[in-house]
Amino acid sequence: MTGKTYIWRTVGDNRTRSEHAGREGKSFFWTNPPKDGHPGEPFGCRCWAELVAQNKSNCEEDEIARVNADAKLFIAKQNLERAEEELKSLEKKFKDIESQIEKEKRDKENARRTGAAIGSIIGTGLGTTKGLGGSMKGAGIGIGIGSNFGKILEEIGDSITDEKTDFFLKQSKVKIKKEIATIAEKIKKELKPVLEKNKKQATEIRKELQKCKSKR
Ligand SMILES: [Zn+2]
Repeated sequence: MTGKTYIWRTVGDNRTRSEHAGREGKSFFWTNPPKDGHPGEPFGCRCWAELVAQNKSNCEEDEIARVNADAKLFIAKQNLERAEEELKSLEKKFKDIESQIEKEKRDKENARRTGAAIGSIIGTGLGTTKGLGGSMKGAGIGIGIGSNFGKILEEIGDSITDEKTDFFLKQSKVKIKKEIATIAEKIKKELKPVLEKNKKQATEIRKELQKCKSKR
């Protein structure tokens, strides 16, 4: 029922290989495909063949239009699904980075606390060895040592987490946030409206086809 030719159609996004993008809108013979095959045949190819009616009788034109509209609707659904999946994975990445930043904060705090605790143990030790009279002095030294020790451990904590890592994490957070905004915008302003438009077209074309068939 379809003609001898079809029109090459691409999904039209930036992942379409340039060779196929160059074929968009061009006619090909079913008997003479390009070297790598008909649309959808090359590995990973998401292109499709827009059918062309052979003659304009027996509702054939409407039937072809319906097939083409369904193909477009399918592509629009796929594009939306893919974008929504990407959005989900970006949101997960964002959460992971946030919890990593939180974890590093906690690690530093733990290092500081460990230092203070060790310092107070040392201080108590010094206080006891110097006898009851010296205990106040000992405790004072201990607190001093403790806070120094805490500082040292804090520095160790810093060097483990590293300012650069911190900066890198915060930078990735900003970058991912931007990516999330971009893709959310694309879903809202482009992919969903296109899907709705294609749904409407497919419905209208089905009505036309029904009308044509009932006339016969
Ligand atoms: Zn392709």
